[in-house]
Amino acid sequence: MEILKTKADMQAWSKNKKKQSRTLCFVPTMGYLHQGHVSLMEKGRPLCDELVLSIFVNPTQFGPNEDLSSYPSNIENDLLLAEKAGVTAVFLPHKKDMYPEHFQTEIKLQSLPRHLCGKFRPVHFAGVATVVTKLFNIVMPDMAVFGMKDYQQLQIIRQLVLDLDLDIRILAGEIIREKDGLAMSSRNAYLSEAQRASALSLSRSLDLARELVAKGEKSSALLRSKIEALIHSFPETEVEYISFCRPETLEEIEVIETKVLLALAVKVGKTRLIDNVLINPGR
Ligand code: AMP
Repeated sequence: MEILKTKADMQAWSKNKKKQSRTLCFVPTMGYLHQGHVSLMEKGRPLCDELVLSIFVNPTQFGPNEDLSSYPSNIENDLLLAEKAGVTAVFLPHKKDMYPEHFQTEIKLQSLPRHLCGKFRPVHFAGVATVVTKLFNIVMPDMAVFGMKDYQQLQIIRQLVLDLDLDIRILAGEIIREKDGLAMSSRNAYLSEAQRASALSLSRSLDLARELVAKGEKSSALLRSKIEALIHSFPETEVEYISFCRPETLEEIEVIETKVLLALAVKVGKTRLIDNVLINPGR
């Protein structure tokens, strides 16, 4: 497994592989890897000749009061997991290489970032779209894998690839959960034992909504109020949003008659957690 620390080295490595007609699959991450990240690597591994992982805590996608400075890191363990998953190159860029002095370009989508997390994290998705575009240009992959855990991010990347005519196939990985249902996240490391118990309020809410929709409930407003009550029955929780929306556009749905995305953001103590599920009322 090669470790590449500069844009120039990464690009040269990819160009060389392409010259040999090797296909490249790419998994971008911010590190502190867990089984959710590993599942994306495992999804990509059989589909390509070379599997590239990037680890970069991108400063431009964090707001001023977010957790950039405390974001967890364990590069040694990340490299072990990457090697085990069959990664052939790891890109570990430095932020000065990614954002040199006078950097001034931003990729901004019009409507997808207005919904869900974008309402509460106004700079986040422009930061994501810009860094992912840069990473695509540096790694030059044939395909890239993103997790459905960050559903809005996945939709934004799909749209960006369409809009900018990027010749990259985007694959989506299922949400990987702990045994008790909590969606895996690097940020779960921030939770105390009591908060870890309250973090279950998110996946429990998805279960409750699924059950109620299966029984015929169609009103988003009613479902929202039941979910809110469930979440607030757990200590140290604060709902940021509970949204029933169209899976493609992320626009709110009031009456659930077709496939719907239920997406949640909840603060547990100071830790902001997200989760989501696609619900099909026909089934
Ligand atoms: P991050 O390191 O949090 O930026 O995540 C890197 C990639 O891993 C993104 O595409 C995430 O959606 C994905 N990811 C994070 N957590 C999970 C999970 N529990 N299941 C599946 N994919 C995940």
